Amino acid sequence: MAEGVILNVYSLVIIFTLCIIFFRKRNVSYKEVQIYERLIVSTTLMNLFGLFISIGIYFNFNNFFLVLINKIYCIYLMIWITLLTFYIIYIAILKSGNIEKAERIMKTICLVNGIFILLAPIKVTLTNDTATLSGLAITYSYMYFLFGYLVQILCVIIDHKNAKNKKYVPVYFLTIFGICVLALQYFIPTINYIINPTLIFIIIVMYFTIENPDVKMIEQLNMAKRQAEKANKAKTEFLSNMSHEIRTPLNAIVGFSECMLEQKDLGEETKGFAKDIVDASNNLLEIVNGILDISKIEANKMEIIPKEYNPREVFNSLCKLTIPRIGDKPIEFKYTFSEDMPGVLKGDVAKVKQIILNLLTNAAKYTDKGEINFNVNCINRMDTKTCLLYISVKDTGRGIKKENIDKLFNKFERIDEDRNTTIEGTGLGLAITKSLTEMMGGRITVFSKFNEGSTFRVYLEQEIISMEVPESNSEEIEIDYSLHKGKKILVVDDSKINLKVAANVLKPYNMDVVLVDSGKECLELAEKQTFDLILMDIMMPKMNGIECLNALKEIPGFNVPVVALTADAIEGTDEKYKSAGFDDYLSKPIDRYLLNKVLNKFLK
Ligand code: ADP
Repeated sequence: MAEGVILNVYSLVIIFTLCIIFFRKRNVSYKEVQIYERLIVSTTLMNLFGLFISIGIYFNFNNFFLVLINKIYCIYLMIWITLLTFYIIYIAILKSGNIEKAERIMKTICLVNGIFILLAPIKVTLTNDTATLSGLAITYSYMYFLFGYLVQILCVIIDHKNAKNKKYVPVYFLTIFGICVLALQYFIPTINYIINPTLIFIIIVMYFTIENPDVKMIEQLNMAKRQAEKANKAKTEFLSNMSHEIRTPLNAIVGFSECMLEQKDLGEETKGFAKDIVDASNNLLEIVNGILDISKIEANKMEIIPKEYNPREVFNSLCKLTIPRIGDKPIEFKYTFSEDMPGVLKGDVAKVKQIILNLLTNAAKYTDKGEINFNVNCINRMDTKTCLLYISVKDTGRGIKKENIDKLFNKFERIDEDRNTTIEGTGLGLAITKSLTEMMGGRITVFSKFNEGSTFRVYLEQEIISMEVPESNSEEIEIDYSLHKGKKILVVDDSKINLKVAANVLKPYNMDVVLVDSGKECLELAEKQTFDLILMDIMMPKMNGIECLNALKEIPGFNVPVVALTADAIEGTDEKYKSAGFDDYLSKPIDRYLLNKVLNKFLK
């Protein structure tokens, strides 16, 4: 029986190693893990007593000692199968149900069985160095083991939909090896030493398939990740819907206050109030756009839409927008653009503008006196037809502390909150700026000295279309309201207030403005009358703008230009609506200059 001792020592080493690995890890405190902990401990003890039995038989210990350790061994075997069965019942039936009650039942079963095994007789017959075990305790233990196994099989059958679940692997292994070994041992009692290695094997399999804490932890992390992604998606949708909803009433606020500004007989004070309302609404609009942008970036919905543009013209227009933001602060605003700047570049000009405007606005916001320098240099590569724009915005403002530089580009993170209280902002600007720059394959860097100033640099590559400077056509022209007098224009919008805004914005033109609040009415009118232009809202109940446009095009001889009018300010929307068949696109709140441009384009 020396092989029995050797095999048991070998098994003990393996189970000890597994115990060390398992208990040294920071385990997730899950019921399944707790059961496995007990299982691994009972396996170790069972193996220890298995070793004692082999040693006792080998050294021919007295009968009383052999009977006692055999009884203890049978008790651990009974506990082992009870634990494994409880584990299977837990994953198949209880799941996260009433565990406490089941646990109490399991403990009672173990106690009653333990007492029974302790009291029931065992007969050990030694012949040479082999031992034959018999008696009620032994038969009962084997029967109990078989019963436990049958319960496990029953559980798998009940939960057959999940039969492929790897958590059931120990049961399958038990079927293949455990039962064979037990049956073998029952009929050839002298080879009792093969039980322990088999059960240890099952415990190891269990460790690597089900109860490996790493597997468990990864499973938990994945679940948490999925939940976080779901929540993030819901948040993104919510933000985007909210932004849209906010833009609609904003359209009314901006529209009406601009109309008030136009009134000639208005007192200076009231005009001042109207101007404040316009400024505040524009600020709010900027915030809403920021939220819309960040939610689009997070949802990977931001697209790069390359267009040809005149960079000098674009940078000059950005300077014009910055000057009012500086206001009456003692700041000198200087700008220089490289002499060899190509005349026409191709890239996502809207995003280029947004990036630079964010940096210029920040410089204006966070500088009280001194200078703001806006420089654009470029490196032209004629072989690849690319131009590397090197944009820098340098200010002599408050600067940023070294420890805060890393936080700068985090969304919703504002730095030096106590100094920022009077400055409007959401902490989104630089997060958007960085994302947009990187989306276009560019890079952004920042150098700053606290209380001395900051320099933001952006490197962007754009395609060169032509080195020649094209004739400028974007000079802001004074709106000439007399140009379209008497023209007939149809405005379609389901919101009454938006119709009122549109009517007021169009009023100075002295046109014949017809307002309808549904696609159906628009169709009825378009069939009877001719219009010079139709402004069409997109999101309308029953028949949306696109459906209405398609129906209009079905009318024989219909050739009125139709311009989409929507609060959906998503970039690329103009492309989207143009490809849907609209002649142009105007976003709400309606910008008077853009509206004028559209009118000039279609009513001439
Ligand atoms: P916001 O300006 O809306 O707060 P930003 O993302 O544009 O958000 O900027 C984040 C923070 O970085 C600001 O709150 C400000 O503290 C700091 N910051 C940005 N630009 C400058 C600058 N030019 N000088 C000093 N601080 C700046």
